[in-house]
Amino acid sequence: MRIVQKYGGTSVGSLERIEAVADRVAKTVQAGNECAVVVSAMGKTTDQLVELAKGLTNKPDARELDALLSTGEQVSAALLSMALHKRNITAKSYTGWQAGIETEAIHGTARMTNVRTEFLEQALKDGIVPVVTGFQGIAGDSVTTLGRGGSDTTAVVIAAALDADVCEIYTDVTGVFTTDPRTVPNARKIKSLQHEEMLELATLGAQVLHPRAVENAKKFSVRLVVKSSFSEEEGTEIVADLEGLELQKPVTGIATEKSVARIAVVGVPVNRHGLAKMFSKLAEERVNVDVIVQSVVKERVVDVSFTVQEQDVDEALAVVEGLRTELGFEDVIKESGLAKISIVGAGMISNPGVAGEMFEILASADVTIKMVSTSEIKVSCIIPASQLATAVSSVHSAFLEGVLSGSK
Ligand code: ASP
Ligand code: MG
Repeated sequence: MRIVQKYGGTSVGSLERIEAVADRVAKTVQAGNECAVVVSAMGKTTDQLVELAKGLTNKPDARELDALLSTGEQVSAALLSMALHKRNITAKSYTGWQAGIETEAIHGTARMTNVRTEFLEQALKDGIVPVVTGFQGIAGDSVTTLGRGGSDTTAVVIAAALDADVCEIYTDVTGVFTTDPRTVPNARKIKSLQHEEMLELATLGAQVLHPRAVENAKKFSVRLVVKSSFSEEEGTEIVADLEGLELQKPVTGIATEKSVARIAVVGVPVNRHGLAKMFSKLAEERVNVDVIVQSVVKERVVDVSFTVQEQDVDEALAVVEGLRTELGFEDVIKESGLAKISIVGAGMISNPGVAGEMFEILASADVTIKMVSTSEIKVSCIIPASQLATAVSSVHSAFLEGVLSGSK
């Protein structure tokens, strides 16, 4: 098999951990696999590098900041290669540009545009383990970085470019869970799920995989396995399609988000471009709007409410207030202290009525639903943050432990 393994910051957080990773890579190679490795920076290195730059200037030059941040991964790649040599494995470290990773000419959040795989292919052919720095590439004569958490994306894109059989993401948890096990003790590890479900979960805040990595895995049909580098436990598999029983489960996982706030704009006379204007202005001010609900109250008058992150709510309110005369609405109200609970599952497509069941469960638990938004495979409810814990445990117990879980 051809395997790409990615090790996150905690997994390479110390020399001891790097030795453990080297053992695992060695084992993979000795079992007859071709293995390419992608590494993150050790522990909190990237944060420390950011701090270092800040100690010097508040506005570091973007090119030089990327040059600085990219060094974290270079340290882990070189050390891991040395640790592999100790085990008689031939290994070579590659920075992003040595590995042929080309990106947009943007600093801090560059997207990969191309991977020239000839060096990596040659290494694999020669029985060498390439150890590639995650989170970076090259554009012209500049090193670029992909954005925080970008190493997952590097691994997936390299796996796609090398046509690997699997991309294994090693982290400090044993897989993807039905919900956060720290809040719901009954949460369990999901054995397998689909790219689309993982994309929803990752976007909704499941920390284990970066959404961009999942997006690329979906795009290039890369089979992902998430598992712990600290144990031998089987992880979670993420694939393009699941067949059979698994699919019939309506709900695969639950994601939550705290610190949600809502802005309600009441009595907005309908004029052709009013709404568009409001949301473009919010986007211009970089306020990230999530759930939007519009309802017609009487002819040619609507109420519009939308959610933002708590930290953005005053900014959002100011933007809307600024349009008061132009839009001619009656009132604007802000509400803080909200949260979002979302159920995700590809099985919803073939199980109509899941949303209704969720509302029923929440009603029985005395949880107030303020807003709802759905997609084909997701139902999200905005609720008071104080009721989030109750909501999650009720919904988890109904859909993922009890009779609704499809384990009939
Ligand atoms: N080292 C980078 C970060 O901390 C990239 C990564 O770990 O994925 O964000
Ligand atoms: Mg990470």
